Amino acid sequence: MSKKVVIIGGGIIGLCAAYYLAKEGNEVTVIDKTEMLDGASYGNAGMIVPSHIIPLAQPGVIHQGIKWMFNAKSPFYIKPSVNLDLITWLYKFYKNSNQNHVDNSIAHLKNLSFLSKELYQEFAKISDQFLYEEKGLLMLYQTEKVGEEEIRTAEIAQRFGIEVDFLDKNGIQNLEKNTNVNALGAVHYKSDAHLSPNLFLKFLKEELLKMNVELFPKTAIVNFKSVENTIQEIETNKGIIKADSFVVAAGSWSPEVLSKLGVKLSLLPGKGYSFNVSKQLDSPIIPSILCEGKVAVTPLNSTIRFGGTLEITNTNDTRINLKRLGGIIDKINNFYPELKIQTPENETIWSGFRPCTPSGLPIIEKSKKFSNLIISTGHAMMGLSLAPATGKLVSELVSDMQTSIDISAFKNR
Ligand SMILES: Cc1cc2nc3c(=O)[nH]c(=O)nc-3n(C[C@H](O)[C@H](O)[C@H](O)COP(=O)(O)OP(=O)(O)OC[C@H]3O[C@@H](n4cnc5c(N)ncnc54)[C@H](O)[C@@H]3O)c2cc1C
Repeated sequence: MSKKVVIIGGGIIGLCAAYYLAKEGNEVTVIDKTEMLDGASYGNAGMIVPSHIIPLAQPGVIHQGIKWMFNAKSPFYIKPSVNLDLITWLYKFYKNSNQNHVDNSIAHLKNLSFLSKELYQEFAKISDQFLYEEKGLLMLYQTEKVGEEEIRTAEIAQRFGIEVDFLDKNGIQNLEKNTNVNALGAVHYKSDAHLSPNLFLKFLKEELLKMNVELFPKTAIVNFKSVENTIQEIETNKGIIKADSFVVAAGSWSPEVLSKLGVKLSLLPGKGYSFNVSKQLDSPIIPSILCEGKVAVTPLNSTIRFGGTLEITNTNDTRINLKRLGGIIDKINNFYPELKIQTPENETIWSGFRPCTPSGLPIIEKSKKFSNLIISTGHAMMGLSLAPATGKLVSELVSDMQTSIDISAFKNR
């Protein structure tokens, strides 16, 4: 039976949910407090990464994180604050960073990722306007130590059926013929893909409008009205909207939105930066991650997008940290000595917040407290990659259908 559904949050997760809900014949409205033009879902690196099957919460990550905290140019930082949300998040993250959690998560993440990639392939059949390409992903490393870690991770991926090549310096240069790559070796994940996030979201909005989905930018939720365990309507700064079902997909703001319903969610923003550079003849052509600096490199038509850093902070902290940005630029110039990238003008540097859960897994679930509320957030560094599958699962949850994959791991805990 067709339902009236309101989605709070018009980032890639909310818009993909709208797409699959509308496809199933539901009447869908998406509200977003911004213009829906430049949030986290727009300036990200555009990588679709079925290779990434290990959650952020894993053994060794805390030790590495503490080391990086003392380096102003490192890719990771936690903004210190005496704040219960941060303390709770850190405690939960610490509890999750173990092998058991990794072992229990891999198959779930892999199934979600592969479903998403299949759905991206379907989108790519409808349009070529968002520059979808399947060139894989190179994890480039410069040191033996990082190489060993990458190879270990890739061997686990191989055991789960993910296609991997192990490359030495010559192997890398056979793929990257235009530029000299200063790396010891690389893991080439052949199943990965990439696209232009800005163009994909433009395409998605056009498809939604064709399906009569209502998109309400500059519309923020003020409150929910519920009776017992059923939400009846939302009050926004533009008026009241009644619906049968409600989806919270408000990215890093999801805890704030859910607190209006008395629903607790441990989730913090992980700020990151990106900037674009015009492609030159000597530019790299394969999407890559520069492992020692965790820098993402995505060639897109006439530009290359570079992205990196993860600063656990709060959503008011929109300041660009130029030291950390300098760390990204140093790594790019070190890995690609011929590129000679300069610090971009301040106004051309983009920043966005990754919604990070302490388990490193997204949340895709029906609320325990409200029978007509779906929570869909916490995709951290993989929101673009996992969005189509998440959207499809949200649509299935709204319709009380059997979900395409087991979602028991994707819970608010
Ligand atoms: C530098 C960087 C690189 C990245 N690279 C990749 C990558 O290569 N691949 C990948 O898969 N992922 C990547 N990511 C992660 C990805 O961008 C995020 O996981 C994803 O964008 C999250 O999408 P979302 O829809 O959950 O959140 P958002 O895009 O943040 O959307 C949430 C929306 O909710 C709205 N909202 C908030 N509060 C309210 C309210 N009260 N009322 C109404 N609306 C509200 C916000 O305005 C926002 O538009 C990267 C992120 C960064 C920062």
